[in-house]
Amino acid sequence: MKISSVDILKLKEHPEHGQTPVLVRINTDEGIYGYGEAGVSIGNYSLGSIEILKSFSRMILGRDPLQNDVIYEKLAHAFWSKGNGGVIYAAISAIDAALWDIKGKYFNKPVYELLGGKHRDKIRAYASQLQNGWKYEQFIGSPGDLEFLKHAVQSAVDEGYDCVKIDFLAKHLDGSRIDFYEGRNHLSLKTLREVDQKLDAVKQIIDGKAELILENHCITTAHTAIQFAKVAEDYGPMLLEEPADPQDIHDYEKLREAINIPLATGERIYTRREFLPYLEKNLLDVLQPDLGNCGGITEGRKIADLAELYGVSVQTHTCNTALSVAIALHLEAAIPNFIIHEHHTSNTFKHNREDFVYDYQPVNGYFELPTLPGLGNEPTEKTLAESQVETVQ
Ligand code: MG
Repeated sequence: MKISSVDILKLKEHPEHGQTPVLVRINTDEGIYGYGEAGVSIGNYSLGSIEILKSFSRMILGRDPLQNDVIYEKLAHAFWSKGNGGVIYAAISAIDAALWDIKGKYFNKPVYELLGGKHRDKIRAYASQLQNGWKYEQFIGSPGDLEFLKHAVQSAVDEGYDCVKIDFLAKHLDGSRIDFYEGRNHLSLKTLREVDQKLDAVKQIIDGKAELILENHCITTAHTAIQFAKVAEDYGPMLLEEPADPQDIHDYEKLREAINIPLATGERIYTRREFLPYLEKNLLDVLQPDLGNCGGITEGRKIADLAELYGVSVQTHTCNTALSVAIALHLEAAIPNFIIHEHHTSNTFKHNREDFVYDYQPVNGYFELPTLPGLGNEPTEKTLAESQVETVQ
C-alpha cells in the first residue's frame, strides 16, 4: 500500500467560536483513507499549518502508510521541525493521526487495539471551561457573573460529571477582562475577593459530588499564581492547570515550593523532549499533551510512557473537533496512567456534534469507547462540501 495523495481541508468557520479547524485526509492506492487534525484551531492558528501540511505531504507521497512510526521520525527531524513548536507539530500530528486511522482500517481494529489494547472500557470525563457556560453556544461571550457560573456548574453536576474545570481569572464578575499586566505582576484585592466568592459559590454546588480543576490559561506568573493559589488551596482543588507560561520552567519551580495544589500543564508543550525537564525536576503531577499538536498519537504514547516512569498521570488536552475527541479516547484507553478526559464545552456545541459522522458524548460523565476500525470518525458529506480543499499528489 502506498500514499497516493493528501487532501488538506479548511473546514467552514464558526466565527462565534473563533475556531477554523484544519483536517488532513491521506489517501492510498488501495482505497483506504485516514483523517487527522491540526490541533491549534483556537484563534485560527491552524491556518498556519496548511502550508506546512503541503510541504510534509510532498515528503510522504509514495510511502507505505503502515510505516507510521518511520514517517513520524522523518517529519519530526525535518529541517525546521527541530526545536519548533505548535504550528509545525500540529501538521505532524495531523499526518500521524491519519496514518493511525489508515492502519486501524487496514487491520480492521480500533486504534487502541493497535496500541496494545484497552486498559478500561469507559473513559471518565470532566466538564471543561465552565466560566464559558455549559453548552452555552457563544463560547467566549459569557457574562461572567456568579449566577451564570452557578448555572453552568449545576448543569454539569446534574448530568453526572464528578469533576469540573473553571478559569476563575478569565473575567471579573461584571464581565470585564482581568487586566493583562495585573495577571503578570500582582493580583488586586478586588480580583482575589472575587475569586474567593466564585470558589465559595462553586463549592456550595459540588461539595461531596465533584472534584475541581483550576484553569489559569497562563494568565498568571509565579507571583500571581501563588497569590491565587493561597486563596484556592482551602477549597481542596484536584489540580491547578497552566499557572504560568510553560517556557518559564523556573516559575513552576517557585510554585512547587510555595503552594499545596497538584500541578498540571502541557497543551503548549511539544514532544517528550520538552516534557522531560518537568519530569526530571518533579514539577508536574499530570501532563496534558494535546494529541493535535504534541506530535500526534505516536508522540503522545511516548510522552505517556515517559511520564509513567516518574509516577505522573496523563490527561490529554482536547478542544478541537469531534475527530480530536475520538483521537484522544483511543490513546486514553491504551495507556495505564490515564487520569481523566477533558470534555470541552465547545465539543458539546451543535456544529461540532453535526459536522462529523459520529458524535461521541459522555453519559453520566463517562465515554464509551469507539468500536469502529481506525479512529472511528470523519466529517460528513455536508461538511466536506462546505470545506476548502487543497490536494497534494
Ligand atoms: Mg487548558
